[in-house]
Amino acid sequence: MALRSCPRCKKLFQYTSGDPICQNCKDSEEKDFQAVRKYLRDNPKSTISETSKETHVSTKLIIKFIKQERLIISPESPIGIECERCGKTMKSGKFCKECAEELEKGLGNHKQPAKKPEGRTQKDASAKMHFLNKENTKRW
Ligand SMILES: [Zn+2]
Ligand SMILES: [Zn+2]
Repeated sequence: MALRSCPRCKKLFQYTSGDPICQNCKDSEEKDFQAVRKYLRDNPKSTISETSKETHVSTKLIIKFIKQERLIISPESPIGIECERCGKTMKSGKFCKECAEELEKGLGNHKQPAKKPEGRTQKDASAKMHFLNKENTKRW
């Protein structure tokens, strides 16, 4: 257990797990979530800004609910959020299906060994010899 300050109300609280916000804010977010869900169920064709105006929930929080995949958007809804990688409009999550797949593949490639720089010892040796020759023919 750790003492944290809540990013929403700045109050200190005992953080256990999940969203790092205090219980009060968790409860109020839950209420907001229920309000948004109910509003969208009754008005499936509303946009995010309309929903925000009617429910008094910030658009930022509505988008957060969608990204958490808690809020399910109906297929006929005009609401869309952008993929955090390619900006494509979609209905849920952080990344579109294509990006999610690519990111998963990318993670598997991370364990490649780093390339060793190529040795230049031979060239260095001959350069040294040239230098010595120059020294020998130096004018007095
Ligand atoms: Zn709080
Ligand atoms: Zn994408």
